[in-house]
Parts: sequence; C-alpha cells; structure tokens
Amino acid sequence: THSETSTGAKNDVKTICQIIKDAGSISVVDGVTSVSAMDVKPDEWGIDVLVSGSQKGFMIPPGLSFLSASDKAWAVHEQCKHPDFYFNWTTNRKSVRDNSTAFTPAVSLFCGLKVALEMMKEEGIENIVARHTKLAGALRAAIKALGLKLFVKDEKYASNSITAILPPEGISVPDIRKVMKNDYDIVVANGQNALKDKIFRMGTLGFVSERDVITAVGALEATLYKLGYKFELGKGVATVIEYLNK
Ligand SMILES: *Cc1c(COP(=O)(O)O)cnc(C)c1O
Repeated sequence: THSETSTGAKNDVKTICQIIKDAGSISVVDGVTSVSAMDVKPDEWGIDVLVSGSQKGFMIPPGLSFLSASDKAWAVHEQCKHPDFYFNWTTNRKSVRDNSTAFTPAVSLFCGLKVALEMMKEEGIENIVARHTKLAGALRAAIKALGLKLFVKDEKYASNSITAILPPEGISVPDIRKVMKNDYDIVVANGQNALKDKIFRMGTLGFVSERDVITAVGALEATLYKLGYKFELGKGVATVIEYLNK
C-alpha cells in the first residue's frame, strides 16, 4: 500500500518492489490514494501491478478501477489457472484495444472520468503532485504549530493524501469530530480499529485547494478553542498562509 489511508503513512514502494523483484516474486501495489497525489513510477520502480480507483484522487464517485501491469505480470496472468470472467485481463485488454469495454460500462462514471482526466491533463500531473505536496505540507506545519502531534513522526514517510493527528491531552477525538461537523460542516475521519478514538484524520486529496486547508485549519482551531485547549489562537492559520506563500 503506497499511501496508507488508515495511518497517513507513505511506504517506500520503490525499495519494497526491488526486494520483491530480487525474491523472484511480482509486486501488486495499492495506489488508491497515491496515484495522482504522489509520485508513482511503475516502470522505473519495477511495480508489476499498480491499482487505483475512481473514488479518490480521480475525484469522481466509486465504481471504476484502473490498473497497469508489467510484462512479467502479464506472463503470470497467462499461466494462471484460477477461474475468472468479469475481471479477466485478456478479455479486458482486447476490449481496450478495440476502444471498447468487455461488458456494459458504467457510462455515467466514464463521462465523469472524461471530465476529471481533462482537468488533470490541463493542470498537469507534476503540478497536481506539487499541489498535494504543498497542501499536505502546510497542514502538517499547522498541526505542529498548534502543538499537536502527527501520527507519522518522520515526515519523509508522510502521505500527501491524508494526515493522521493525535488529539491534545484531555480532548477526545469524538468531540473534535462532532464540533468540526456540527459547527463547521467539515468532516474529519476517526482512526480505524486499534486507532479508533486515538487519532483523527484530515484529507488533502483530489479536488482540494489552498482555501480548503486554510478553512479546515481555521475550523480546527475554533474547535480546539471551544473544547478548552490552550494555544496561541491563529497560529495554525498563520502557519498555513506563510507555508503556502513561502
Ligand atoms: C479507499 C482505499 C481503498 C479502497 O477501498 P474502498 O472501500 O473500495 O473505497 C483501497 N486502498 C486504499 C489505500 C484506500 O484508501
């Protein structure tokens, strides 16, 4: 998993894929929240299968998934004896080459995807990645300026798509989420499983802009203030603004 949505961690896919390759295996990378938000280089990094979905960085509803496959992965597919039908790669590749789909496609999603891809092409993938890098960096800087702790301590391993944050001492995650939602109409995610109520998560993925981060950090400050946290009011927003303009 390149960008680990439940923790906000970025895995070193390049190194992991090299190890997998040396072991003679094929790598299958979950790029659901990394493709379009972070550098992903399937050929250069030796990723055999890279999978993403329409519902995250592609900014459209769920329902479509995309994958790229290396020659090595194709060779494995050709020998594979597991039964398949709908997801058969050969059938799907043949259809793609005919500029079609193997089965009735989710037409409405394709229409949305066309618009999304046009937007992405116009912005340019390097610029999209740079935007995500900047927005996530600004958010992390603000969190630290507010005296809160990031769940991913080494920012070298921080995802651009989502940031996991520890609540301040004595203030609960459900309370933070409740005030953010009820008073400011902003949804922040809880942690999952073992991390439930231990962290909250703020997303910076896809259709997201400077305004969103400035607004979300402002709302977070107002929330923490209401919940009795002692900090220098305005410090988070000031940090975001400075970061975005440096
Ligand atoms: C969202 C997500 C998925 C897909 O999960 P869905 O429940 O199908 O949305 C897979 N991997 C990661 C890292 C994700 O963030």
